[in-house]
Amino acid sequence: MFEFTNIQEYHSQLCNNATTCIEALQYYLQQIKKNQRLNAFVEVYEEDALQTASRLDTARKAGKPMKRMHGVIIAIKDVISYRGHRLTAASAILKDFEAIYTATALQYLIDEEAIIIGNCNCDEFAMGSSNENSHYGPVLNALDESRVPGGSSGGSAVAVQAGMCMISLGSDTGGSVRQPADFCGIIGLKPGYGRISRYGLIAYASSFDQIGIFSTNLHDAALTLEVMSRPDKMDSTMNKNNAGSFSIQTGAGKKYKLCYFKETLEHPGLDPEIKNSIVKYINELQLNGHDIEALSFDLLDYIVPTYYVLTTAEASSNLGRYDGIRYGHRSKKEAQDIENFYCNNRTEGFGQEVKRRIMLGSFVLSSGYYDDYYAKAQKIRNKLVQQIEIIFSQYDGLIMPVSPGTAFELGKGKNDPIATYLADIYTVFANLTAIPAIALPLFSHSNNLPFGLQVMTKRGNELTLLQISDTLMQLKTAAFDS
Ligand code: GLN
Repeated sequence: MFEFTNIQEYHSQLCNNATTCIEALQYYLQQIKKNQRLNAFVEVYEEDALQTASRLDTARKAGKPMKRMHGVIIAIKDVISYRGHRLTAASAILKDFEAIYTATALQYLIDEEAIIIGNCNCDEFAMGSSNENSHYGPVLNALDESRVPGGSSGGSAVAVQAGMCMISLGSDTGGSVRQPADFCGIIGLKPGYGRISRYGLIAYASSFDQIGIFSTNLHDAALTLEVMSRPDKMDSTMNKNNAGSFSIQTGAGKKYKLCYFKETLEHPGLDPEIKNSIVKYINELQLNGHDIEALSFDLLDYIVPTYYVLTTAEASSNLGRYDGIRYGHRSKKEAQDIENFYCNNRTEGFGQEVKRRIMLGSFVLSSGYYDDYYAKAQKIRNKLVQQIEIIFSQYDGLIMPVSPGTAFELGKGKNDPIATYLADIYTVFANLTAIPAIALPLFSHSNNLPFGLQVMTKRGNELTLLQISDTLMQLKTAAFDS
């Protein structure tokens, strides 16, 4: 039977004729069928994928050299455009929409011979933390099916968690890759803003959004990042020098200077067991020769409100295009006038959380309130960016919890949006400051659920991020072995 450990191993199996792309693909297709109740996939591209797999097998057997993503089986979040395939952002408003072009980042993976197996369930327009705001219904956490997988990229996380693909793509505007990775016990990487092209990624909040990667190991995340990190003239917000080699990791042996914000660990909302594990782990890191310092950070209580003011403002503008004319569902109800026409289309098409955010965003941008909310939030964002620059002039990395708790029960967050928003406290910082961040599955809770640690580095320093992560993951392994 096919077994996956990592891409490198898989490639050597292919070279030795120990397996084929078709065999691997059939294994995953079966896994998807077996795990259908988890509701992770929106659509499976069985025929397409089989054709690609067979083409790759034939070419390889004829002696054609393998490209970097040869036969790697990837699932994508239903916010990433793939030409000729349905693209719905898990929303009724886009239920019949078919993508007319392929997202650049996805194209780069396909160019390197990846196989795209299907697209994954998520919160509608990537708004949420539990994958319960989806037109297709919730996704279940494979470790405990009474619990959420996290969100908004819950389907992509579960696709990797339950072995339904090798790696998957999500999007991270305020934690949507890292938090589900944390809840599912896998790796979730959010590159710094501008590292990966956003062309073909459905916009939620354009100055925050970034495509992210789920994987079972660091090497695969690093390689996928490397393949996707290429310039794209279609995205003017990309970093000038976005290309880089990330797959070479030399983390082992290096000693790092890391910091954490005292307030993040002292926060009353943080599960005490998560706190204790992280404190213990910090001691362990120190014993291993790393320099870890506690800093004080007085803006912690401002970051969630700042994030929600700015992202809802951007969302209210980005989602204006779903009006039933340019894009989206058109109501069958007879309209009295144009306003009524838009109103019917949007009322029927959008779900509750999306409507809440559009209204919130329109409010904070409205004249009379703009200065009090939007302009103020921008100032705080600038302040955060300045502070983080100073911090990274002195430290290699910043560590933080990923989420205040482990995966919660289905239905629990539904009636209390504020509590759900507040749980984004540890993830939104990296999006507000445009820095890269990763969730590493390091710990296990007494409730048997996994949780991890977040690492962040300076913008542009994904290589250091991966090297630190490598060191931390090895320390975990050593701790478990002893
Ligand atoms: N939970 C956050 C939100 O609801 C994150 C969403 C995201 O990163 N797409 O906004």
